[in-house]
Amino acid sequence: MSVPSSAARTYRITALAGDGIGPEIMQVGRAVLDAVAAQMGFSLQWQEGLIGGAAYEATGDPLPPETLKMAQESDAVYLAAVGDFKYDTLPREKRPERALLGLRAGLGLFANLRPVKIFPQLVEASSLKAEVIAGIDLVVVRELTGGIYFGQPKGIFTDATGSRRGVNTMAYSEAEVDRIARVAFELARKRRRKLCSVDKANVLEVSQLWRERVTAIAAEYPDVELSHLYVDNAAMQLVRWPKQFDVILTENLFGDILSDEAAMLTGSIGMLPSASLGSSGPGVYEPVHGSAPDIAGQDKANPLAQVLSGAMLLRYSLDQPQAADRIEQAVEAVLAQGYRTADIYSEGMTLVGCREMGEKILATLAQQQASPQGSPSAAGG
Ligand code: NAD
Repeated sequence: MSVPSSAARTYRITALAGDGIGPEIMQVGRAVLDAVAAQMGFSLQWQEGLIGGAAYEATGDPLPPETLKMAQESDAVYLAAVGDFKYDTLPREKRPERALLGLRAGLGLFANLRPVKIFPQLVEASSLKAEVIAGIDLVVVRELTGGIYFGQPKGIFTDATGSRRGVNTMAYSEAEVDRIARVAFELARKRRRKLCSVDKANVLEVSQLWRERVTAIAAEYPDVELSHLYVDNAAMQLVRWPKQFDVILTENLFGDILSDEAAMLTGSIGMLPSASLGSSGPGVYEPVHGSAPDIAGQDKANPLAQVLSGAMLLRYSLDQPQAADRIEQAVEAVLAQGYRTADIYSEGMTLVGCREMGEKILATLAQQQASPQGSPSAAGG
């Protein structure tokens, strides 16, 4: 659905740069979003919030209430990354990563979308054979607010004999399964209309209910082909023949693991964006990778996952698909021109830092604007 006369629109975006390489990649991501907005005739009103270690240092809280409020009142949240190993000894509720859970809960984000797409120029970056991975284009839809991370009872309990027992509970209600299933079916409808639901229904009752509800919801989407896989088989199929997948739907814990496995098919964590969505309100858009403290402040970070997260923000929260396309085309063009940050570098390519990669994308966007029909030539650099 397109927004009529988007020309005059201003969107309010909360930028959360966080820790480590966060501020560096955020700077690039924002510049690219601003550039494409100007080209497409809308504008972005940025508001900056503290999150993670940076917020803890400033306020003693990794997710200050003002940050959550700012996020709730915006059209979308653009997040970089949080965390540093120096915070590992803090109590759990003070750790930077807690902020992510608080943000998801505070915004009611129950669906995590992780597209995994191989850029032809980066096929050689994967540890798998080129014929296995060339052309991969899948999305993992992970349920984000239920399952074993949140189910009760949970804790470490001591029984009458003094022996301790650790307990977590994997639980899903019908309503929780139905709403995430609909997100995945809707997405499949906009893609190649294939949905694979992943569970462990041969062993787990919670998975039996999951499979039953996903099958029931499928009746609303007769145009989408539904299949089911057990999670152990899905893990194998992802490395055996990943091209068989279009949309993969799964619960929280399985999704946590499978989405990282799927991410590594590309061999380059610095390339992967993600979106976390609720039923209404702002979504959160962030790279899959963390704050990479080992390279922070050295202008070595790959900003492309951040940039591509910006494209998802445009597509899913601002309903500006053409602007999103422009960013994705610019990324592809810059890769085709041979520019690489260190994490995706291969021989014969041109090594650039975070800032320069950003400049190349801006230049390519400007070039696309100047010659709107043809995408910029791949022979540029
Ligand atoms: P990481 O993703 O930060 O880094 C893993 C490796 O990939 C590192 O060698 C890093 O240099 C490299 N890398 C990551 N992103 C890169 C990029 N854009 N360009 C180039 N290289 C990149 O994971 P980690 O080292 O396990 O964790 C570091 C910190 O990040 C920890 O505190 C962790 O808790 C946190 N973390 C945060 C998030 C998040 O904010 N969503 C996700 C994962 C980890």
